[in-house]
Amino acid sequence: MTMTTIDINKLKNDYPLVRDLVDLKEVVWFNPNVTSTDQGLPYVGLTQNDVMDAQARLQRFAPYLMKAFPETASTEGIIESAVVDIPQMKEALEKRYNTLIEGQLRLKKDSHLPISGSIKARGGIYEVLTHAEKLAIEAGLLTTEDNYEKLFSDEFRKFFSQYSIAVGSTGNLGMSIGIISAKLGFSVSVHMSADARQWKKDKLRAHGVNVVEYEQDYSIAVEQGRKEAEKNPRCFFIDDENSKTLFLGYAVAGLRLKHQFETLNIPVDSEHPLFVYLPCGVGGGPGGVAFGLKLAFGDAVHCLFAEPTHSPCMLLGVYTQLHDGISVQEVGIDNITAADGLAVGRASGFVGRAMERLIDGYYTIDDQELYNLLSLLNKEEGIQLEPSALAGMTGAIHVSQAKDYLQGLSLDSQKMHNATHLVWATGGGMVPTDEMQKYLAQGE
Ligand SMILES: *Cc1c(COP(=O)(O)O)cnc(C)c1O
Repeated sequence: MTMTTIDINKLKNDYPLVRDLVDLKEVVWFNPNVTSTDQGLPYVGLTQNDVMDAQARLQRFAPYLMKAFPETASTEGIIESAVVDIPQMKEALEKRYNTLIEGQLRLKKDSHLPISGSIKARGGIYEVLTHAEKLAIEAGLLTTEDNYEKLFSDEFRKFFSQYSIAVGSTGNLGMSIGIISAKLGFSVSVHMSADARQWKKDKLRAHGVNVVEYEQDYSIAVEQGRKEAEKNPRCFFIDDENSKTLFLGYAVAGLRLKHQFETLNIPVDSEHPLFVYLPCGVGGGPGGVAFGLKLAFGDAVHCLFAEPTHSPCMLLGVYTQLHDGISVQEVGIDNITAADGLAVGRASGFVGRAMERLIDGYYTIDDQELYNLLSLLNKEEGIQLEPSALAGMTGAIHVSQAKDYLQGLSLDSQKMHNATHLVWATGGGMVPTDEMQKYLAQGE
């Protein structure tokens, strides 16, 4: 990280939206530098083959996951979530914002992914599996032709117990990595930022995970995790800010969604556009998913990232072109938000740069509105999410209001009538009932 002093006044003059960000106003920014998918993909530095490779690795591990986590048996060891229609919520949103949403509003329930109840069950678990596979193959204990069920044994647990894993997290990444690492037999430390909820720490400790708590934010927790790992050559540090492995684990979602939509008879093409609204923290989750979606659907899919007004790190980084060279704190924003999964002050430089041509827009949402939408979704659809996961819910409103943006894409009313608006619900499935009651009580 380079330490340069940022001239805030110059920044506000050159990039007027920064004023609204600093004032904690809700902001919508459509990216003028977006390109066609074909033009943008080569800048990512990863390819369809890399994603296929990740998909194949997850397939190899499916027999292990089925054994180790019986809740994945119904999907044969594949960690995947449902897509559901939310028509009542659509109506409620239209009323609330006095805006017509053309097309269908649907929810991708990563909130209810098995093992850890958030989108981190994609990238986090995938990276630990990749590491475990590498160690076992190098030690001559495993080949890719084997049935990986054998990893669920005392022999392998003993083998992995010689190694450790460390990670910094605001909660959900730690949950995913902690649970899968402990199950495989690794010794694992999760460095939790101040945002992390107590129940997540308790749950991890119950799984035998070493939880280290910090009073500072995510950047400090990551830095400390990295330091701990550097001291121990047998410790593997999972780098949420830069990891291509995590990114690929998330990207598999794109190919899977394509099949899922085919099964559900939901068309996506130039006449049936797909808009996807992804809550963004450091960027790996939404960035990886968006990469996979672009590979799967090309120019027919349009991705938007959503952040809390108190932690708009990706919007700030991409909009000013400074990427990880600027943090929200440096412009006077506190990075304190109820959306604990998104409480990140400095975005991933890798994701911001890799994906800047492929993300149509970015917007922010107020914390109170996250709670309002949380209770509204519960009332209208009986679906319960954690605050972070509601950030995507206003995306369809912003797109519907953005007449110039839609015109630029040549999407007229008829095509929009065929559109799918997919809200990526990123977490909430494992929130304890009493915690959920507290969340619900905060809605208006
Ligand atoms: C981590 C997380 C995100 C965003 O993922 P990043 O990789 O941090 O951008 C979104 N929602 C929830 C609930 C999360 O835990």
